[in-house]
Amino acid sequence: RAKDAGGTRIQFFSAEMSIETKNRMALELDLRDALERDEFVLHYQPRIRLGDDMACGVEALIRWNHPTKGLIPPNAFIPIAEATGLICKIGSWVLRQACADIQLLVERIGIDLVLSVNVSPVQLKSPTLCSDVRHALEASGMKASDLELELTESGLIEDTDTSHQLLRELCDIGVRLAIDDFGTGYAGIAYLRQYPIDVVKLDRSFLGPSSGTDSTMDFIKAVTEMCHSLGMRVVAEGVEDSNMLQQLVRSSCDEAQGYLFAQPMPLSRLDDFIIDRQAS
Ligand code: C2E
Ligand code: MG
Ligand code: MG
Ligand code: MG
Repeated sequence: RAKDAGGTRIQFFSAEMSIETKNRMALELDLRDALERDEFVLHYQPRIRLGDDMACGVEALIRWNHPTKGLIPPNAFIPIAEATGLICKIGSWVLRQACADIQLLVERIGIDLVLSVNVSPVQLKSPTLCSDVRHALEASGMKASDLELELTESGLIEDTDTSHQLLRELCDIGVRLAIDDFGTGYAGIAYLRQYPIDVVKLDRSFLGPSSGTDSTMDFIKAVTEMCHSLGMRVVAEGVEDSNMLQQLVRSSCDEAQGYLFAQPMPLSRLDDFIIDRQAS
């Protein structure tokens, strides 16, 4: 297998390889230079507080502006970045860029926002995550309490001791911690007590087209009550219609994010969205 050898890497494209494998290897090669070529862009999706309907935060979502293939969504390259370890450098760029973007926006428009950044399970094992977070905060001037890191269940389950210590360290910095895609993974809820989690994001598979049923809503209500009693806030992801929104409000869900409010957008459109939302 072609592997790193002192920085240079030799890949062999053989006739027997599937097209899929070749595409993946080609993408992997391009990915190695994407940071230097400044090809990544961040889009931001607003998060709405259900109490007053205002935008209370944004989630940074990465895209890759590939020179020939156009805008590539994260699901098409994050797994490759994770497998190669490139995710650590990419993740560190995301932290710095997103903190800088949003801190400047907050200062521009004078409206407080919490910034959410996705953190891969691979980054959770990296010794540089905490210093990446500190540097991103220092360089941007953002308060630690305005930054929220979105972790996935799988990242927490894998290595309890190390992740425990790391999460404590992140807590000491003062950033908030969220569980992303809650309900899709191992769904063991005992770990919610073990870790200092502030926010639970309910995955949109709970809220999909066929899932607005009474039993789904009962379930969301029960999960929400449990999270509240543990001192955590609940955010619904992927809210696409107002029916669902009404049910979430009735379930005492705290915040929501989804196409009903806004799709992820470039920074250039974010100011107007946040300001309009506040005015209406
Ligand atoms: P996620 O963190 O769960 O982000 C939510 C995804 O759902 C986003 O997809 C968002 O565009 C999409 N979404 C939001 N509202 C709706 C809706 O109403 N309906 C539907 N159908 N979809 C909605 P996106 O941007 O393609 O990102 C996919 C995943 O890629 C993210 O899932 C996250 O796990 C990962 N990702 C994105 N940016 C980063 C990053 O900077 N670092 C890492 N490690 N992962 C990232
Ligand atoms: Mg997320
Ligand atoms: Mg999610
Ligand atoms: Mg997801």
